[in-house]
Amino acid sequence: MSQPGIPASGGAPIGLQAQNGAARASGSPYTNGPVQNALMSSQVSVSQGYNSQLPGSYPHLIPAKTLNPVSGQSNSGGSQTVSPLSNYQGPGQTVYRPSVASNPVTPSLRSGPVPQMPLPTSQNPAATPMPSGSFLPGANIPPPLNWQYNYSSQTNHCPRASSQPTMSGNANLTSPQYVSSGDASLQNNFIKSGTPLGPPPTGAPPPVRALTPQKSTHRAVPQPTFNSASNQEATPQLTSKNPTMSRSVGYSYPSLPPGYQNTIPPSTTGMPPSSLNYPSGPQAFTQTPLGANHLPASMSGLSLHPEGLWVINLLQERNMLPLTPLQPPVPNLHEDIQKLNCNPELFRCTLTSIPQTQALLNKAKLPLGLLLHPFKDLVQLPVVTSSTIVRCRSCRTYINPFVSFLDQRRWKCNLCYRVNDVPEEFMYNPLTRVYGEPHRRPEVQNATIEFMAPSEYMLRPPQPPVYLFVFDVSHNAVETGYLNSVCQSLLDNLDLLPGNTRTKIGFITFDSTIHFYSLQEGLSQPQMLIVSDIEDVFIPMPENLLVNLNESKELVQDLLKTLPQMFTKTLETQSALGPALQAAFKLMSPTGGRMSVFQTQLPTLGVGALKPREEPNQRSSAKEIHLTPSTDFYKKLALDCSGQQVAVDLFLLSGQYSDLASLGCISRYSAGSVYYYPSYHHQHNPVQVQKLQKELQRYLTRKIGFEAVMRIRCTKGLSIHTFHGNFFVRSTDLLSLPNVNPDAGYAVQMSVEESLNDTQLVSFQSALLYTSSKGERRIRVHTLCLPVVSTLNEVFLGADVQAISGLLANMAVDRSVTASLSDARDALVNAVIDSLSAYRSSVLSNQQHGLMVPFSLRLFPLFVLALLKQKSFQTGTNACLDERIFAMCQVKNQPLVYLMLTTHPSLYRVDNLSDEGAININDRTIPQPPILQLSVEKLSRDGAFLMDAGSVLMLWVGRNCRQNFLSQVLGVENYALIPQTMTDLPELDTPESARTIAFISWLREQRPFYPILYVIRDESPMKANFLQNMVEDRTESALSYYEFLLHIQQQVNK
Ligand SMILES: [Zn+2]
Repeated sequence: MSQPGIPASGGAPIGLQAQNGAARASGSPYTNGPVQNALMSSQVSVSQGYNSQLPGSYPHLIPAKTLNPVSGQSNSGGSQTVSPLSNYQGPGQTVYRPSVASNPVTPSLRSGPVPQMPLPTSQNPAATPMPSGSFLPGANIPPPLNWQYNYSSQTNHCPRASSQPTMSGNANLTSPQYVSSGDASLQNNFIKSGTPLGPPPTGAPPPVRALTPQKSTHRAVPQPTFNSASNQEATPQLTSKNPTMSRSVGYSYPSLPPGYQNTIPPSTTGMPPSSLNYPSGPQAFTQTPLGANHLPASMSGLSLHPEGLWVINLLQERNMLPLTPLQPPVPNLHEDIQKLNCNPELFRCTLTSIPQTQALLNKAKLPLGLLLHPFKDLVQLPVVTSSTIVRCRSCRTYINPFVSFLDQRRWKCNLCYRVNDVPEEFMYNPLTRVYGEPHRRPEVQNATIEFMAPSEYMLRPPQPPVYLFVFDVSHNAVETGYLNSVCQSLLDNLDLLPGNTRTKIGFITFDSTIHFYSLQEGLSQPQMLIVSDIEDVFIPMPENLLVNLNESKELVQDLLKTLPQMFTKTLETQSALGPALQAAFKLMSPTGGRMSVFQTQLPTLGVGALKPREEPNQRSSAKEIHLTPSTDFYKKLALDCSGQQVAVDLFLLSGQYSDLASLGCISRYSAGSVYYYPSYHHQHNPVQVQKLQKELQRYLTRKIGFEAVMRIRCTKGLSIHTFHGNFFVRSTDLLSLPNVNPDAGYAVQMSVEESLNDTQLVSFQSALLYTSSKGERRIRVHTLCLPVVSTLNEVFLGADVQAISGLLANMAVDRSVTASLSDARDALVNAVIDSLSAYRSSVLSNQQHGLMVPFSLRLFPLFVLALLKQKSFQTGTNACLDERIFAMCQVKNQPLVYLMLTTHPSLYRVDNLSDEGAININDRTIPQPPILQLSVEKLSRDGAFLMDAGSVLMLWVGRNCRQNFLSQVLGVENYALIPQTMTDLPELDTPESARTIAFISWLREQRPFYPILYVIRDESPMKANFLQNMVEDRTESALSYYEFLLHIQQQVNK
């Protein structure tokens, strides 16, 4: 195992041992281990984690700053015209470019490696060739012989386990499933014998109607791309040389010296409130000897959820939708571990039981991946301010609840298994003020935690929050009237922008020219500077364009009040978006920050100009639609921005095709967000106006992290290979996030590179390093721990159908772009067919008729059908191209919970709300109506139905709706009096009104943004949107749910 580049540190035998272990992980992206260093000499520092240079980012800032020529230029005087706003007559006044030969900023800014970087494989799914029509590689990998048992021969390496009571003659206690039986058909036994409650999975299928099956010509082209099926060897040198060490692999709390274990749980009174914002006190350290207890506890965990063992015939059980929102599955872990585990809202895996080998994973035909919401707003977040951040010396993992303490002085990494020393400072627990209990420190008691990063985590001092707004002020933009809303929103929220006394702000407007605004403190009013040379944009007076918000607040307010009126008479129809973005980028380069761009049309002038590509007649065709960018300008500029810590958020307010496929790249690669308001108009579309206002309110005031990077590590043997979301992958696994916001989600795909058969538990850790708006460098760490399993049945039992659907949606977006929409649709369908076929052929003992699914996947066909009908992937003429692209952006950027609500909304009947089953929160009674299937069958004309689609709430009122609801809730005398546009319910003094409003408020409170409520009458244009979401129904171009099930069954039973 000798590898080049292993540092000669860690002289103790154990240290060396662990180091070997680490070196074996070469090639896994989590490690940053020595081998990787050797391969990537230019990025050696990455291996040190965040405490050294981040490649490609800060170094470029220095020259940019020192070369900043602008002040010199602006002082060069005569050629520029500076006019007070009051004198502004229209875009005729011009600042001519000073006679500087060339702008030195440009080359120096562009000299970094970033723009030249090739499309990273992780953002280029094409780089990982897969069989078309399927997401899953390796379909043909032969199942290894005896894969169920391939670690029974290694029980010798588990001395602790063997000293524990053993069950069923199997000394290896890593696998609870073996309790029931040791024979080869145990996965079937498991279902048969362990299914006391399950309906007998038999019965003739309903008559099969003929239907035109979905095209699935590409299915049978499996093509393994990554494959570790051969890797079933154990790690003999590791385990045999140091059995104690290896035994504790996967245990979070191996045995400690007696005195160490029995410490009385401390009270929280010793908590120093100022330094440690640790909410609930430490959790008791129950030193359970996990060896034997792990088994029965896990089993009892299963028996607590007997429905998990059900096998369901979906053709018989028509409604599997739970009455309340679907909860993520609980990993089958010992309760002492599980109670420390990361909240699934933050960190979730598609399979809560990790297959031991890639071969097993391939066999399940389910995608393995993580879904993250790392910067979610949290009510409680323990913050550690101590200067010692304890991390694994080998793989840089942060100490976490799932490491093992060998004794007081040594802990073993749960990702690479290296044994590390406990630093002296860590021996003291600031919570309890007790010395000698490192295992009680908050870092070891919380799967989610934030550290205040010391100076070694910075390459430059934390930059101030910088907000630059870039407004389209062309004729088209003025027509929409959006500037009024945006400027008013900004005025309202100016004091709520996250920041401190250093906050900087600036504004740029553009049409065919670019307009800057000097807001220098002391001016009597803002001054406008126009640059008409859009071929080679320069920045006049840069020091006065981004100004301290506190010092120049009045000027900023002046400008915001004036701006909406300044261009009302403009006749300028051209849009020089590209040059404006270049100018904004130059302005922000020294500091980084957030750029908010408002655009209302296709850019027509200068670099980045685009041509219309959408042909309305071709909308229905799934082929030949332009999902790929027509220019790489926006991506390249985004990469430049990323290198200078600038994120670009795009607000597209356009009634016409604006080529979001191209424009969106500016946000995607710079870690920004995209907002889209089709047909925005201040008068004709009041609902969009309200939506923009609400979303701006959230956007302007939500938490923001600057200069961020995120890395995701996982236990040795697992490997992350594809990332989804808005960011740039800087090195193999370092995501560059110039900004991070609490509403962004991410997903990654993983494979099993080495057999995990000597491991019971694996862990995943995300670490997000960012600069807070207060100028603090912070690290937010989430750690998730999951069990490893060895049978296909267990893999299926632990499947998280929402996470699977979410990850498949991300993969399908990539497939749509790299291949075609129809290919992506086929792949989605085949994902269901393949996994259910695998379940049928490999898990079910007798081949029943019907469509048999494990309980965990009972909603899989429904969710995939919902995805096929989602705007991203639907066929038919409904979606115009930009709307489809936007939906795809949302798939990539939304946290899972909102993605699922968008895809499969929750439907409630609300005209008969009662207090039965209601919940009580703060003396408020909140009705809990059951969730209904998404079918018009569930609607009735005498009722009112609320659909919660995440960012939108739709209340459809039937034509014969009961008078009681009309008058007591809507406050109207009859149906005809319901306003055409109604986005709020009146607060009436009736119990019906109180219940309805309580329920809607409760739904809204559960998300950080404010979903608009649309009240929909039968003849409202919005009714189509409402019905669009009835995913169980047949449409012109899509199967009904039942037809879809029949199709799946046909394919599965082939
Ligand atoms: Zn480690």
